[in-house]
Amino acid sequence: MIIKTARFVISNSDIDKCPKPNLPEYAFIGRSNVGKSSLINMLTGNSKLAKISGNPGKTRLINHFIINDEWYLVDLPGYGFAKVSKTDRKKFEQFIRKYILQRENLYCICLLIDSRHEPQTIDLEFMDWLGESQVPFVIVFTKTDKLNKTQFENFQMNYTNKMLETWDEVPKMFVTSAETGLGKNDLLEFIEGVNKMNG
Ligand code: GDP
Repeated sequence: MIIKTARFVISNSDIDKCPKPNLPEYAFIGRSNVGKSSLINMLTGNSKLAKISGNPGKTRLINHFIINDEWYLVDLPGYGFAKVSKTDRKKFEQFIRKYILQRENLYCICLLIDSRHEPQTIDLEFMDWLGESQVPFVIVFTKTDKLNKTQFENFQMNYTNKMLETWDEVPKMFVTSAETGLGKNDLLEFIEGVNKMNG
């Protein structure tokens, strides 16, 4: 898929004010600082579309972008930041979960995982919840330019094995780098394929 246009539509803390669910939607989510904004900018070829945050945990809104006037790319707030109180975190997570469960045009969640870190409980638990809720998702490994080939292979094998402790099979995995553009075509082709299958 070639991205001809990528436009910001609206930022929301109110699920009811999101755009009409009349186009396929793909939501990007991950722990704060995972590289989500950088990945969105890399995918869309617009270095200013999503704000690369110097301040993790600040952006707590749902951002809708419309791509090629055909589908929505949704930037969900990062989770797992340390500076927020437990009550606030719970409230906030409920907000994201409500969005994920309610949004009828949400075709797939792209769950971003930083390839420099060991599997994190918060991500694994989130995946368990997605599975239980029957929400389709794929894994997107970010910042893979920081590892060499062997390091990345070991990382991916370790991650797969960790998941296989609870899952019968692992979801589709994408290998990306916002620095080098790696994974851009794969991810966009995947989205195009899902759009076509449902179109
Ligand atoms: P967000 O909080 O998930 O939106 O993460 P950002 O996109 O703001 O990125 C967090 C930090 O990681 C920034 O300093 C980025 O420059 C850096 N970063 C993001 N993606 C990559 C990548 O693919 N490779 C490298 N080397 N650094 C990255």
